[in-house]
Amino acid sequence: MTKVLIAGAAGFLGSHLVDYHLELGDTVIGIDNLCTGNLTNLSSAQQSQSFTFINADISKGNNFPAGCEVVYHLASPASPPKYMSLAMETMMANSTGTINLLEYAQSNQARFLYASTSEIYGDPEVHPQIENYWGNVNPIGPRSVYDEAKRFGETLVAHHVREGLVDAVIVRIFNTYGPRMDPFDGRVVSTFLRQMMVGDSITIHGDGSTTRSYCFVSDIILGLYLAAMSHNFGPINLGSTNEVTLLELANVMSAVMDAKLKITYVADLEDNPTRRKPDISRAHTLLGWSPTVELRDGITKMAQQVIEPSKSI
Ligand code: NAD
Repeated sequence: MTKVLIAGAAGFLGSHLVDYHLELGDTVIGIDNLCTGNLTNLSSAQQSQSFTFINADISKGNNFPAGCEVVYHLASPASPPKYMSLAMETMMANSTGTINLLEYAQSNQARFLYASTSEIYGDPEVHPQIENYWGNVNPIGPRSVYDEAKRFGETLVAHHVREGLVDAVIVRIFNTYGPRMDPFDGRVVSTFLRQMMVGDSITIHGDGSTTRSYCFVSDIILGLYLAAMSHNFGPINLGSTNEVTLLELANVMSAVMDAKLKITYVADLEDNPTRRKPDISRAHTLLGWSPTVELRDGITKMAQQVIEPSKSI
């Protein structure tokens, strides 16, 4: 039985990770300031005596109960509309917040996992993206409040590891989807789902040829767990290698939902990366990890969960 601290516990990924550790029989302390998360994501965890929720901002301190052996740092706005409207909070969560959690991990001799992102590759000139590629990021563009904050977060973690202060791993998560995504947070799968469910036309930024590789949440949660339990530093990419265009995604989703596909095209977003697909050979070699859920199956599970929220994934 392990005592685990999860920052960002009320969010999409954090809440699934809380449930995963509780199912293993671990004790979990969940930290969240609810700036983008929702307590309803923790409704099943709150039934467990092994779970404690603390409403706190990780950029304001680290006075958390001592004794956690593993610390996950997932506390950051993650969708472009959210991190652009919470720009200072995003930069603080990944800078001061990362320092606070690293110091907690150091004083408790805890293993530390930093949830970084494929966004640190920016608009990549190397495809698929491999971990030793340094990226192509506009440091002053609208997305930089997230991309550069995550890059700085990685620098902080690498420094603490280099100095021998903390045993840590960096994971770079690519686009993830699944139940509990906030339907209004602007991410593509949840937005398409919400629009299709009410018969609206879906909104596509650009001409629909932009690609992403969408990974189902249960695969990512297993990857996070394996990375945390390993003694690797990484960085380790976690994501699906099934690269699809926005139009292909829309077609898969409309087939699953049995919805007639109606599309409204709008101008593309500034600095929106045109392609995104991870090289996951490192995750495979170091962790024995690779995704297992096909896009069509994952979308089906997600749609079912919206219709029947009690259904578990
Ligand atoms: P999310 O917005 O659903 O969850 C983030 C959680 O962190 C929220 O509950 C929010 O309230 C909390 N939070 C934010 N700032 C905080 C602070 N200062 N103190 C305490 N809590 C704070 O996002 P998510 O999709 O679950 O992402 C989780 C992590 O994974 C983020 O760090 C994100 O950058 C990273 N990530 C996610 C994806 C993805 O596709 N979901 C991809 C790449 C990286």
